[in-house]
Amino acid sequence: MPEAFVDLHTHSLASDGTDSPADLVRKAAALGLSALALTDHDTLAGLAQAAAEAEKAGPEFVPGVEIAVKYGAGELHLLGLFVNPNSPGLTSALAEIRAGREGRNRAILDKLKTLGLPLTMEEVRALAGGQTVGRPHIALAMLGRGYVRSWREAFDRYLGAGRAAFVPRELPTPAAGIELIRNEGAIAVLAHPFLSPAMSAPGLDELLSRLRSDGLQALEAWHSAHNSEKIRICRDLARKHGLLASGGSDYHGRNKKDAPLGGGEERVPYAVLEALKNFSAKSGQGG
Ligand code: AMP
Ligand code: ZN
Ligand code: FE
Ligand code: FE
Repeated sequence: MPEAFVDLHTHSLASDGTDSPADLVRKAAALGLSALALTDHDTLAGLAQAAAEAEKAGPEFVPGVEIAVKYGAGELHLLGLFVNPNSPGLTSALAEIRAGREGRNRAILDKLKTLGLPLTMEEVRALAGGQTVGRPHIALAMLGRGYVRSWREAFDRYLGAGRAAFVPRELPTPAAGIELIRNEGAIAVLAHPFLSPAMSAPGLDELLSRLRSDGLQALEAWHSAHNSEKIRICRDLARKHGLLASGGSDYHGRNKKDAPLGGGEERVPYAVLEALKNFSAKSGQGG
């Protein structure tokens, strides 16, 4: 039997990706992936469409979500895998998180206006198309107006942390974020720990000790921003801290280069999903 691979971290039009959930599932099938998780930022809105498409011709579908939590002056990202797409508790908590984004987006547009770069919320929302609206969509609107020549420039000059139009977001603590995810038996995963160049292996080791006591259950080892060495470090640290390993591309379609669906050279073996599934089955009922 040929080896099977999975991708447990992707984004659709429901947040800041450029593929519809159904297209994402079809592309995963065309690539021969055995399983796909949709993990849009702060919304469950794409899950039903993806699940319905996966019903038809596969691959196996894992409903997920990605949220940000507070980490010093910055943020960490958590994935929830095997979330309940119809969970009233999670749905309303995410709606509250998105409402927080609204205020922040408005504040960013105010700053841009002061800088002589007016944008309307309507054009930003139209570019987003889905429920979750964020800086990537503001960057696209700036590009559309010719305020910047690239996405990179939009973040480097205006939208990135500490730049001219940056506004921080109010975020839950890691413990609160983990609790939100685990509420109904989903698995809480720390996403792409080495995406930030500031993260070192000893730093991650220490962070995992803390997050483990907050209830973290898994660590994303495979990710487009992780080279083989980082993947190995993550797998070793996961073992050391009694965490499961996870992995995915963080595919965003045209909105993110260098994150191909299904991953790059080091793909995520199906056994990784198998272990997560076994764990979720065991800890399932409110465990
Ligand atoms: P938001 O969720 O609105 O805070 O936007 C976060 C997203 O903006 C990230 O997922 C990235 O896609 C993008 N982003 C954030 N910071 C940068 C940066 N410095 N350069 C390029 N893209 C960035
Ligand atoms: Zn994203
Ligand atoms: Fe992320
Ligand atoms: Fe992501």
